[in-house]
Amino acid sequence: MTTQRSGQRYFFWLALLMGSMALVLAASLFYDLQQRKSIRQTMERRYDSMTALVFQFEREFLRFRRALETAVERPGADKIDELELRYDILISRLNLLCESPNISVLDDRPEFKLVILQMKSVVIPAEDLWTGAQPRLKEMGTLLGTLNTMGPAIQSLSLTANSEVARLLENQSQTMLRQSDMVIGLTSALLVLLLLSAVALLLRQRSQEREHAALQALTDDLREKSIQADASNKAKSEFLASMSHEIRTPMNGIIGFTDLVLDTRLELVQRDYIETVKRSAQSLLVIINEILDFSKIESGAMVLESIPVDWQALVNHALQGIAFEADEKRLTLSSKLANQMPLDCLGDPGRISQVLNNLCQNAVKFTDQGFVAVNVQARHLDAHTCEVRVAVQDSGIGIAPEKHATVFNAFSQADASTTREFGGTGLGLTICKRLVEGMGGRLWLESTPGQGSTFYFSLPLQRGTHLPTPPAAPSPILSTEARQELQSAAPQEILQVLLVEDNPINQLLAEAILTNLGHKVETARDGRQALEVFNTRTWDLVLMDIHMPVMSGLEATRHIRQLEATGGRHTPIIATTAGAMEADRAACLAAGMDDYIAKPYKPQVLQDLLTHLARQRASEKALSGRA
Ligand code: ADP
Repeated sequence: MTTQRSGQRYFFWLALLMGSMALVLAASLFYDLQQRKSIRQTMERRYDSMTALVFQFEREFLRFRRALETAVERPGADKIDELELRYDILISRLNLLCESPNISVLDDRPEFKLVILQMKSVVIPAEDLWTGAQPRLKEMGTLLGTLNTMGPAIQSLSLTANSEVARLLENQSQTMLRQSDMVIGLTSALLVLLLLSAVALLLRQRSQEREHAALQALTDDLREKSIQADASNKAKSEFLASMSHEIRTPMNGIIGFTDLVLDTRLELVQRDYIETVKRSAQSLLVIINEILDFSKIESGAMVLESIPVDWQALVNHALQGIAFEADEKRLTLSSKLANQMPLDCLGDPGRISQVLNNLCQNAVKFTDQGFVAVNVQARHLDAHTCEVRVAVQDSGIGIAPEKHATVFNAFSQADASTTREFGGTGLGLTICKRLVEGMGGRLWLESTPGQGSTFYFSLPLQRGTHLPTPPAAPSPILSTEARQELQSAAPQEILQVLLVEDNPINQLLAEAILTNLGHKVETARDGRQALEVFNTRTWDLVLMDIHMPVMSGLEATRHIRQLEATGGRHTPIIATTAGAMEADRAACLAAGMDDYIAKPYKPQVLQDLLTHLARQRASEKALSGRA
């Protein structure tokens, strides 16, 4: 604000200076023109020619008088000729004197008037005195007398002409001097104004340099602060990742053993309590996952995949996730996919699934009766992009219009009472919005309180060559029928499993699940021990924890893969880790592991994996037996 005002002041003064300079320049130009006019006048008037004319007239007058005197005293034809010649010259000088414009300054002088009058009345008519057959000497003598009396007037005229010219020249010089003084004065003023402008510009330049330096310092400071903020953000996200790891490890025990207990014979009230423990643990896990996700997005650590998206599978997955709760509330679940869903649109199925699941879970959470419907539509924008629009509609409690924008803010809920009634962190929609926007899309909602809500998101997706979808990881969301089919078809192949796990509770849990399924388990506490045990016999599966003392799971895996490279057969190694970052999964695969189960895992996930493997082993054996 202050800078703006000082800038305005500066421009005001600069404009004033410039205006003054323009005025001074105009005045200086005016005086220059005046001076030029004076010089031109002097040149035109030729005052010196005026004195010359008067002087020549006077000289010719004297010559004529002498010729007249000679002709009167010693008459003769030659003298009369001379007299005539002098008369003619005198008259021509008189004419020049009367007609010359340069003589105009003398017009009003009495000497001039008198001389001209006498010349016209006495001298000009006298020509007849000597042009006749006989010169009239007597009258010529009288004329000589008159000429003698005119002598002083003519002399005085000559003096007057000289002094008049001197006066005029003096005036002219004075005027020119004055004008020259004015021009000098104005030029000096111009110089001063120019100097002032230069000083003002210099001061302005200095102040701008100072402002620039201050701005630079501020920018440097901000950059420094931003680096510090980035570093602290990174530290925060690393802290959260390690906290999450620390929390997930015991959570694996809680959820796993809860599931195992639920598989045993329990009294009704005990089952009720244990199911409450399980629900609480799962809620806790959701919160941990949401906070971790939020911090990952905030720190810019989110890495997006670009692979073909199976929209039908994503919708099925989301609906399966809410099927149980919807069934309990007797809600109708439905989904509709456009007939012409493009198969070549590339995106990040994991992130899209996260958004879709969250919207579906909210829909079922805030709906007590009616329906939840998912609708997916697509349109081709051009040869390289398509736009997919997903709508998740429910007939639930709805959201008041004034809350439509705030529900997308972090830790914000439409109604404080919903926290008590429905739970939740208020982070789900924030994460969804950031994820959708991170993918270049838009998330918005339409809702009427008491009638229901529809959450929409649209994503612009690149179209690419239709790559085969990568093999699915062991899925914790196998449908019940698929699972039953898998288990019923599974031959009773007993697997030799090497469990590498440093946490005693997680050891106990995995051992319990594996032995319950009838498999043989041997346990190693760290990577080094795992290598020793691995070399003792052939294994069907290695379940490898990542973070362990002495030797990490990644290093142990790399050693095993090196051993196998010298002729051994490939042993499936599945990572079990509480690390929740995308980078953890990539590191596992890079070390040579076949797959990855995130802790806490449900016993069911491990069971499905083992059943799948047991079946694979059995069919391999059957094939080799036949061969
Ligand atoms: P929360 O974990 O609290 O569900 P969300 O960010 O997912 O956090 O949602 C924020 C708030 O938006 C919710 O607390 C709820 O008030 C409102 N909300 C979200 N989805 C719906 C819906 N389908 N129907 C009604 N209200 C909803």
